[in-house]
Amino acid sequence: MRYVVIGTGVAGMSAVEAIRSMDGENEIVMAGDDPHGYYSRPGLAYYLSGELHDKALYPRTDADYNRLNFHFVKAQVKSIHKESHTLEFDDRNPLSYDRLLLAVGAQAMPLKVPGATLDGVLKLDHLEDARRILKAAHRGRAAVVIGGGITALELVEGLLAHGMKVRYLLRGDRYWSNVLDTQESRIVEARLQEESVTLHHHAEITEVLGKSGHVHAVRLPDGQILKCDLLAYAIGIQPRLELAKGAGLALDRGILVNEYLQTSVDDIYAAGDVAQVYDPMTGRSVMDSLWHPARQQGYVAGLNMAGKRTVYSKAAPLNVTRLAGLTTTIIGTVGGGRDDDLVGIARGDSETWRELPDAAIAQSGFEVNRVRVMVGENTLTGAVIMGDQKLSLPLEKMILGKVDISPIRERLLAPGSRIGDVITEFWTSRNSKN
Ligand SMILES: Cc1cc2nc3c(=O)[nH]c(=O)nc-3n(C[C@H](O)[C@H](O)[C@H](O)COP(=O)(O)OP(=O)(O)OC[C@H]3O[C@@H](n4cnc5c(N)ncnc54)[C@H](O)[C@@H]3O)c2cc1C
Repeated sequence: MRYVVIGTGVAGMSAVEAIRSMDGENEIVMAGDDPHGYYSRPGLAYYLSGELHDKALYPRTDADYNRLNFHFVKAQVKSIHKESHTLEFDDRNPLSYDRLLLAVGAQAMPLKVPGATLDGVLKLDHLEDARRILKAAHRGRAAVVIGGGITALELVEGLLAHGMKVRYLLRGDRYWSNVLDTQESRIVEARLQEESVTLHHHAEITEVLGKSGHVHAVRLPDGQILKCDLLAYAIGIQPRLELAKGAGLALDRGILVNEYLQTSVDDIYAAGDVAQVYDPMTGRSVMDSLWHPARQQGYVAGLNMAGKRTVYSKAAPLNVTRLAGLTTTIIGTVGGGRDDDLVGIARGDSETWRELPDAAIAQSGFEVNRVRVMVGENTLTGAVIMGDQKLSLPLEKMILGKVDISPIRERLLAPGSRIGDVITEFWTSRNSKN
């Protein structure tokens, strides 16, 4: 009996842990094409800004790996033959499996404009990308960043930390408009401007211009040319579906899985950024491209592979992130209501983040404090907390625990309501009664 896991990300690693927790005997093989194996992708932003050393990106020790007792195959899987239960590689013998997990993740959407393959046009997907950016970032030189979400902002901040002059191009009229409200976007933008970032709204790139094979400038739709020594982009991600497609698995936006994270083929499972899972909140099947869900999905898939029938139930999104240096917690549904928004909202939560000395819990003294709550019929459905984080925990518990807020609903919705006071009072009195 052999378990094979493709992908050394958090979903793959959690699956190995789950399998070993159930089965101490049978062989586990993990195949991965990232030369650095398992590390924290969310931590890459902190590596880029110089706040984390690359050693801090590795959450497991050699002793952990020895305890898990699995074989590591450093190679790219080229195809899956589901009838013969084998995997093909380019330069090694085929490998047979009894149960297979696809935990192959997602990758950055490519930039598709002329000149996009010039040197100095960079993305942030994995550790090697971060190293390339660090090598290319030079004090006083000019950078252009494009993309509307958290990764783009991480690129802006990483490049600023290395003394670059940054122009940040936004497609719409404000930052992250499908998740933040106008005031929240403006707060983030104002902070970027304070750090001397030049913002360009309604801006896109039509061409990357080069000199001797290296990026030299970008052209905007109105013909304007912005000179730059580096162009960094984060314009979305796409699940890596090639293997699943080749094997004829059922696909939609990702690999379709049932509540046991099983694909359309019984002995093949999928988890993490590549899987499309059932969401009890919306009753639909959605992508959930985030660290915590990937870890949970990997674990549940591993348990199922090892024979312990376990249902995966998707939790409401909860994210602690830093937007232009401002700690921001985003809980539940706060955007325009499309599935894609839910994914967008959640970029930001990671253990690395929470463990950093300046993360949410450790902060005090804020120049910005803002709380936005989404009030449902008798529960809170979402919240955005910027700055002072003392309401984060009560709001997290109230939203995720679907606490009945009917006693304070009217007060919350009253014009000029002091939301913070109403929630603190309600939460304190509720806890003192329990
Ligand atoms: C810069 C950055 C910042 C992020 N920040 C956050 C954050 O703050 N909070 C958050 O929740 N999420 C964040 N994310 C998203 C989070 O990292 C992902 O959701 C999570 O890593 C997904 O885990 P995974 O195991 O599904 O996939 P991955 O981590 O992508 O791992 C998949 C692995 O499979 C390997 N692979 C793919 N195809 C093959 C093949 N054919 N053969 C062999 N190996 C293969 C890949 O090399 C990769 O190592 C961030 C992501 C990035 C890139």
